[in-house]
Amino acid sequence: MNENYQEYLKSDTWQRKRKAVLKRDNYLCTQCKKKAQDVHHKTYDNVGREPLSDLVSLCRECHEKKHIRNSKSEFDLDREHKENEWQREYEHEIRTGDIERPPWENF
Ligand SMILES: [Zn+2]
Ligand SMILES: [Zn+2]
Repeated sequence: MNENYQEYLKSDTWQRKRKAVLKRDNYLCTQCKKKAQDVHHKTYDNVGREPLSDLVSLCRECHEKKHIRNSKSEFDLDREHKENEWQREYEHEIRTGDIERPPWENF
């Protein structure tokens, strides 16, 4: 998918869409109203046949922030997920009597 996506960004279809989106947004970043350089996918669900409403114009700065924030939240979600899982396992062990006290109390 990643390789296809890179290829897609080089295609005429994408170049046309990109221009249309920039034009629609008056070549301004939809976040900070500075000059837009990039077109960002709000969702990757429809890549290749995305409606223009899936796309927004962004300046480089806001675009980078978006991707940093996205990957950070994915990371946070993953961590939360693991913590919850660990918590559930732990509660299960307490119920079944495998452990009686929180392990950190042994220290
Ligand atoms: Zn911006
Ligand atoms: Zn993007």
